[in-house]
Amino acid sequence: MDGGSRKADCDAIVVGGGLAGLACAHSLARARLDVRLLEGSARLGGVVGTRRGDYLFEEGPNTVQAGGAHFRALVDELGLSERLVCTRDAHGNPSAGGERHLWHAGRLVALPAKPGGLLTTPLLSWRAKAIIATEPLRRFHAPDPDEEEPSFEAFLGERIGREATMRLAGAFVRGVHGAEIGALGARSAFPRLWEATCRHGSLLKAARALQAAPASRLPGPDWPRGALVSFPLGLQELVEALARDLGVRASVSSLVDKIERAGALWRVRLADGATHHARAVVLATPAPTLDRLCGDFLDLDLRARAAAIPHASLVVAHLGCAPGAVPEHAPRGFGYLVPPEARSRPDAPLALGAIHASELFAGRAPRGARSYAVFLPPAAVEGLDDEAVARLAAADLARASGLPRTPALSEWWVRRWHNAIPTSGVGHMRLVADIRAALAAQADGLEVAASWTDGIAVDSVVGAGREAARRVQARLLSLEDAA
Ligand SMILES: Cc1cc2nc3c(=O)[nH]c(=O)nc-3n(C[C@H](O)[C@H](O)[C@H](O)COP(=O)(O)OP(=O)(O)OC[C@H]3O[C@@H](n4cnc5c(N)ncnc54)[C@H](O)[C@@H]3O)c2cc1C
Repeated sequence: MDGGSRKADCDAIVVGGGLAGLACAHSLARARLDVRLLEGSARLGGVVGTRRGDYLFEEGPNTVQAGGAHFRALVDELGLSERLVCTRDAHGNPSAGGERHLWHAGRLVALPAKPGGLLTTPLLSWRAKAIIATEPLRRFHAPDPDEEEPSFEAFLGERIGREATMRLAGAFVRGVHGAEIGALGARSAFPRLWEATCRHGSLLKAARALQAAPASRLPGPDWPRGALVSFPLGLQELVEALARDLGVRASVSSLVDKIERAGALWRVRLADGATHHARAVVLATPAPTLDRLCGDFLDLDLRARAAAIPHASLVVAHLGCAPGAVPEHAPRGFGYLVPPEARSRPDAPLALGAIHASELFAGRAPRGARSYAVFLPPAAVEGLDDEAVARLAAADLARASGLPRTPALSEWWVRRWHNAIPTSGVGHMRLVADIRAALAAQADGLEVAASWTDGIAVDSVVGAGREAARRVQARLLSLEDAA
C-alpha cells in the first residue's frame, strides 16, 4: 500500500547501530518517540568493541575525551557516570595519561606536554623553533568564504614551518586519523582550531585561547582538561547499556537496502524483503551507503562525491605480554607515534604508532603483565596470517622501544580494519553541507549523522546522533502542530 492512507509503523527509524545510531535512537526514545534501530551486522556498536579475556583489548576506540560534552551527557543519562575511569599520571593523579613519545632518529623521544615545551624539545631544530616562536607576528588572513580551504599540511606548514608540521602534526594525524597529513582539509578536519585561527589571526594565539576557554560543567566527576576516559570493562560497556536501554527497539542482522518515499511516510526496505514505514529516518551509516540507500533523493554528483570520500584502513595488533616478558625499564606512558619522515629510514618502525594499553586504565592486563595495541598500515602486513602479524608487531614494538629482544606473547588478537575511518579532506565540510541541504530540500525528514558528518571522535559521533534526534523531534512536532 502506498500514499497517504498508510499508517506509520513507528515515528522514526535509525539505520546503523554504531555509536551515532545508538545515541540517536536513545535520544529519540528518551523523547518518548516510537523509534526502531536497524543494524545490518550481527552486533551493535559498529567499530566499538571490547574483547575480554585475561587481557582486555579494545578493537576500536581506546579512549574518549573526558571533556566531551555529548559523550558525558549520554553516559549520565544511562546512569554510567560513576563507572567512568580516567587516565592518570605516574603519581596516580587524573591527567591526560602518561608521556607520549615520538620515534625520532632511531629512538623514542618524549613529546612536549605543553605548547611552551616546543621551544625546548630536542625534537626540533633551532630554525623550526624560531618559526614557531614568531608565528603570532605573521598575521593569518582567512581565505574568502568561497575560496577552497588549504590542506592541513599547507595551513600548518605556512604557520609553523615544514619541519614541525611533518614531524609533530604529521605523526599525530597518522595516529588519530590513520591518514597522512596532506589528505586532511584544515577547516574540515579541525574546524574549531581553524575558526579560532581565523578569529585570532594566529595559530598559537588560537591554541592558547582554546586552552584558556572555561570548561563547561559536565555531569559526573570533574577531571582536568585533556584527561581521557573509558569504563572498567571497556567502551563496550556503553554499547551494552545502550542496547539494554533500547531493548527490542534495536534489531541486528537487519541490513537496509533502500529508502523510499511512501506518500507522507518513509519506507525502509530491508535486504530480506521486509519493509517498515516511519515518519522520519536517520541514516547513521558510512558515507558510501548513500549511493545505494538514497538513490531517489540525492543527485548522482552528490552520491558520487559521498562514495569517493577516502577512508583509512589499518591493522591493529593487540599484544598481551606476561609478567617478565617485557623488561622493567621498557618505556611506559601512553605510547608512541612514528612521523611520516621515518619512512625514508631503513631502521624505522613499520607501525604508525602504538598504545601502551595496560598503562591507560587498571585491569587491562593481569597484574605485572603489559599489553599493547600496535597500529600498522595494511601494506606492511599484506599476505601474512594473523599470528605472523602479531609476531611482526611484537618485533616492531621491541625495535621501536629499544628492547633487547622481542617479547613473548601470552595472548594476541589481530583486527584488520578496511575503510574504517573517513578522511575529512579538502572540501569535505562543504560536501556534508551540500548533502544536508539537498536532503532538506528534497527529502525532508531524512537525516544523516555519522563519523563522516561531524567528525570522527567518539564525542563528535555521539553529538551527531543526538543532534539528528533533536532535528527529527522538532520536525515531528511541527508536523503535529500543522495537522
Ligand atoms: C581502530 C579505530 C580506533 C579508533 N580510536 C578512537 C579513539 O581512541 N577515540 C575516539 O574518540 N575515536 C576513535 N575512533 C573513531 C570512532 O570510534 C568512530 O568514528 C565512531 O565509533 C564511528 O561511529 P559511527 O556510528 O559513525 O560508525 P560505525 O561504528 O561504523 O557504525 C555504522 C554502523 O552502520 C551499520 N550499517 C552500515 N550499512 C548498513 C545498512 N545498509 N543497514 C543497516 N546497518 C548498516 C554498520 O554495520 C555499523 O554497525 C577509532 C576508530 C577506529 C576504526
